[in-house]
Amino acid sequence: VLRWHHLAVLAGAILLGMAAGLAVYELDLVPVSGRAILAGISPRASAASAGGTPAPAVGARPGFGGWEDANQHREEPAPVAPASVSLLPPPPPLYIRTLEPDGPERPPAAVPPERRIRRVPILMYHELGDLENGLYVRVRDFEAQMRYLSESGFQPVTMKELYRHYTEGRPLPRNPVVITFDDGYRTFWNVAVPILEQYRFPATVFVITGLVGGPNYLTWEQLRQLPGMGFELGAHTVTHPDLRRLSGARLRQEIAGSRQALERETGQSVLFFCYPSGRYSAETVEAVRSAGFLAAVTIRQGPAAAEEDPLLWSRIRVDRKDSLTVFARKLADAVR
Ligand SMILES: [Zn+2]
Repeated sequence: VLRWHHLAVLAGAILLGMAAGLAVYELDLVPVSGRAILAGISPRASAASAGGTPAPAVGARPGFGGWEDANQHREEPAPVAPASVSLLPPPPPLYIRTLEPDGPERPPAAVPPERRIRRVPILMYHELGDLENGLYVRVRDFEAQMRYLSESGFQPVTMKELYRHYTEGRPLPRNPVVITFDDGYRTFWNVAVPILEQYRFPATVFVITGLVGGPNYLTWEQLRQLPGMGFELGAHTVTHPDLRRLSGARLRQEIAGSRQALERETGQSVLFFCYPSGRYSAETVEAVRSAGFLAAVTIRQGPAAAEEDPLLWSRIRVDRKDSLTVFARKLADAVR
């Protein structure tokens, strides 16, 4: 005898089956690179998208996460979500591609030298906040700057991605820019990361390893989490000295020592360096090279140019008093 509860069980089973099918479909929408990093998504990313400002829609930036020849852009069709997908909770934001886009499968073809990008702005920030101090950029200004980058089609990349484009022709997205933060201040975690995650922008933090865990500085625990969230760590010495005044073991300790500490504590390879206050000498650069760094940034104003020594890349300082117009002009001048 067919009873009501049999029907109810049957209906339940059908609904479950449909939900499972949708769930599988939903997972399949996640690109491979995203799937690999979904597990590492930070809780704050979800909180940010659930709260006030809406995160950009998935698929709204087809170039992002894809690796395209800078000069031969092909529009990949965005995945079409089935109408019934709205029954399911929205997927977590697909954060930034992994730092190793060149996995074992499908290495992208090299861009021939004549078609490579020659000038890429590397933006330099320190602290974010309202203190009347030259190191600080106001939070609302930083937000406006990141919105400007997004709306103007700039596509932030990492130092490693830039280095590999210049040296190997590894493809870069169009309109690349690198976002860097010097010194490893706590405001990177508290203030910058939620904003950067909203736009899925990677950034590079140059850490003074002797100050990690200090009152205004990132902790080792935070530094260990950042690479999995798509951020890149670089070394900025142990104590932020004037490197021109050091030599021998002391110089090596500041340069190679900061790299070793970061690698030991985070388990990540650290390939990029930042000269404290932009000060260096020929001996400094040699020590940076022999410590195994691939590239290093100065505070000389201008874009990082393909013809520059990668150990002496220029940057563009974002100043507290820059209006959005000035910020935009600095970027435009850099890539002109
Ligand atoms: Zn510094």
